[in-house]
Amino acid sequence: MPTQSQITASTCCYCGVGCGVLIEHDGEHILGVQGDPQHPANFGKLCSKGATLHLTGDLDARAMHPELRLGKGLARSRTDWDSALDHAANVFAETIREHGPDSVAFYISGQLLTEDYYAFNKLARALVGTNNIDSNSRLCMSSAVVGYKRSLGADAPPCNYEDIEQSDCVLIVGSNMAFAHPVLFRRLEEAKAQRPHMQIIVVDPRRTDTCELADLHLAILPGSDVALFHGLLHILLWEGWADRRFIEAHTEGFEALKSLVHAYNPQMVSELCGISVDSLQRCARLIGNAPSFLSLWCMGLNQSTAGSAKNSALINLHLATGQIGKVGSGPFSLTGQPNAMGGRETGSLSNLLPGHREAANAEHRQEVADYWGVDSLPHTTGLTAIELFEAVRSGHIKALWIACTNPAQSLPDQNKVHEALAACPFVVVQEAFFTTETCHYADLLLPAASWGEKEGTVTNSERRVSHVRRAVPAPAEARPDWAITTDFARRLEQLLRPGLPSLFAFDCPQALFEEYKHLTAQRDLDLSGLSYAILDNQGPQQWPFPAGATGGTPRLYGDDRFPTANGRAQFIAEPFRAAQEKRDTRYSLTLNTGRLRDQWHGMSRTGSAARLFSHAPEALLSLHPDELRRRRLNSGDLVKIRSRRGSLIVPVQADDAVRSGQAYLPMHWGNRFLKGLGTNVLTQPAFDPLSKQPELKHAGIELDKVELPWHFFALVEGQVQTRFEALRPLFEDFAYANLTLTGRERPALLIRAACAIAPAPEVLAQIDQTLGLSDGPVLAYDDPRKAVGKRVRIEDGRITAIRLAGETAARDWLKGIWESGSADTELRRWLLAPRSTPPENSATTAVGRTLCNCLNVSHEAICAGIAQGLDLNGLKQTLKCGTNCGSCVPEIKRLLATQPVAVNA
Ligand code: SF4
Repeated sequence: MPTQSQITASTCCYCGVGCGVLIEHDGEHILGVQGDPQHPANFGKLCSKGATLHLTGDLDARAMHPELRLGKGLARSRTDWDSALDHAANVFAETIREHGPDSVAFYISGQLLTEDYYAFNKLARALVGTNNIDSNSRLCMSSAVVGYKRSLGADAPPCNYEDIEQSDCVLIVGSNMAFAHPVLFRRLEEAKAQRPHMQIIVVDPRRTDTCELADLHLAILPGSDVALFHGLLHILLWEGWADRRFIEAHTEGFEALKSLVHAYNPQMVSELCGISVDSLQRCARLIGNAPSFLSLWCMGLNQSTAGSAKNSALINLHLATGQIGKVGSGPFSLTGQPNAMGGRETGSLSNLLPGHREAANAEHRQEVADYWGVDSLPHTTGLTAIELFEAVRSGHIKALWIACTNPAQSLPDQNKVHEALAACPFVVVQEAFFTTETCHYADLLLPAASWGEKEGTVTNSERRVSHVRRAVPAPAEARPDWAITTDFARRLEQLLRPGLPSLFAFDCPQALFEEYKHLTAQRDLDLSGLSYAILDNQGPQQWPFPAGATGGTPRLYGDDRFPTANGRAQFIAEPFRAAQEKRDTRYSLTLNTGRLRDQWHGMSRTGSAARLFSHAPEALLSLHPDELRRRRLNSGDLVKIRSRRGSLIVPVQADDAVRSGQAYLPMHWGNRFLKGLGTNVLTQPAFDPLSKQPELKHAGIELDKVELPWHFFALVEGQVQTRFEALRPLFEDFAYANLTLTGRERPALLIRAACAIAPAPEVLAQIDQTLGLSDGPVLAYDDPRKAVGKRVRIEDGRITAIRLAGETAARDWLKGIWESGSADTELRRWLLAPRSTPPENSATTAVGRTLCNCLNVSHEAICAGIAQGLDLNGLKQTLKCGTNCGSCVPEIKRLLATQPVAVNA
């Protein structure tokens, strides 16, 4: 029974900033969300994604019951938990007996809680006896892991969020922090406003919203980061800005690096990086003369075949200047996912073991085996994400367990990933949303609890552990991930080691945490002094927090000692290596990928909220206006993007934030919202030799303009998720189809599609049927000779569904009428006339992009305000835009810098 409104403190489930949230609920349903003023990550702030958490997770998109497929090609049917998990245990046990433990694999997620991770690790390594357990963090942070370990001795980001605010010089590399870590960016914005002398340098091939805060933007050529860092070090040494005392007392390997960077003179680096010598020297001067220097980075460094080298070359700058272990100083990776850090801590990459141990280290293996009470742990090297799916494709992996991640959208080279999943004899998917691309391949679908429904812990980017609290029960039969994993493990151990005491006698997530934390004792991340009670009484804490400690550790390496064998940090001397795919005559553009402001990963959650599409409703390929001109393209033209691995059709848009010779496509689109296999059908699986992280940021591509004269447009209100599922397969034969949501008060499904010739009448009839346009109060005009038609459903004087086929010139006009909420006589006249263009002199136009999502302020309204002479404060006062979460402020500032102001304003 729902009770009165209550508040439960928890955390946001999106990015690694790890904001605290207050969930308002009635014991059964989540009603609202606010930032937690007590949480030290965000002090009450949330970004556009966090602030709309309660609007996401539509129950119509949730997996509710276990479903089992009894044979390839058959549909899955509902089953119960006992049958589902017994079946899974039998298949896994049989596979392990017949083909050995390395014939099965687990692919898990940076979204899981620490307790979930720990259960999976014990299951794979102690019970199954395989190191084939990898996580989607491999695509995200594994180069940072290698960077920290090689240079500093442990995978431990040394800084905290206050260091960002207190620094005198912040270098942001390969991170559109304004979109990807917005609340932390807000903190940086405020710090810069209070301490304007703080210098901010942004290194990014694109001029992103993050650059709005920059004193210096270096738009380096993609992949040239190592050359840049070596060039900066060259200047720092030449100018005498290095800290010789620190280098001699606390580091080793300097001489080798010094002789390497000798060759990286400013002229050479300027050419390699595509930036001016002046800007390079200015960057070095800012770093070299800053009392404190801090660097932030993310996927731009990590997702590269030289990701490990990039991380170490950046850390070299901190070691050379002694800028580490002090207030406002140090290398600080921005973690992508909410608990990627927890994954690294619990050993959730195939080469790791719990407590920052190594699977390849015999001593580490024995320590963990002894703690778990098993004879030994597997010594065979585990497969990393790309290798793992290749092993699935080649038939070596015969049973695959995927939890809380969507590899059929997120891995590179999607054609091969889909082939692998289709060929795998047994695929288990443990997932909250049945709508993900990967669920299509599940032989067994296990419904998992989601945000607000689970308890456990997470660690954010600054090593801070928070208690994630459950607000409401999971819907229907969905269960928390730790419970699914341990229940399966208990069934499997009865088959693999009958009669022995269970390794999985956990009855709550706290029991998992209590067992796990002792495995970290006396390791660099020591959590042995932490407990749920301490987190509840003292709030989120930063590790290390050893037994007996009264508080966490805000900053590491203040004593200049590093967790290496001799206590010294290590300079790494590796030359610059260019990205794997260089531009050539066949593939003349470099494709960069990245995030949108209001979407998260493959949109399994954010894609269920119409409001979150209003900033960027469709997948667009951004190209510099000169590049468009050169290719005789206009914004809105459809192009086929080809890489060496696959192709995709999307519209292009002019964007002078992207340099000529480059292109940019957001990473969120997969096969669900866009026809084709999404952005990652183009990206490449080549990976860094040490971190095994793939080069998702650089793919050689070529474009061909496509002429698809037959256009389709539809908009329909009501039963959005259900209609989405029914309609999506009907667009499989269209060359281009983009399905999205729209509308704040009345969410609607919006479809744009195109093909060379009209589809079969039966397909159109089926689409009309699903849109609710076959009967009832529907106005229709059809011209079968021209394969053109228009249909509008009007209920209570309001449009509730629209479909244009063949010709869609009136689509924005019709959408505007739908948004206005009334259907006038002009519309009726237009409907019954053969013309397809909107009536002349019509005042109705569709509302365009929403720039401020919280206060629903459109791009047009803000541009009109700027034209009238309003500055940022004026816009905030008049339109209220940017006054809530602030995620739109960088874009407003950009418009202020570029939009014309009326002469008499
Ligand atoms: Fe969530 Fe936004 Fe905070 Fe990231 S910055 S944790 S997405 S509210």
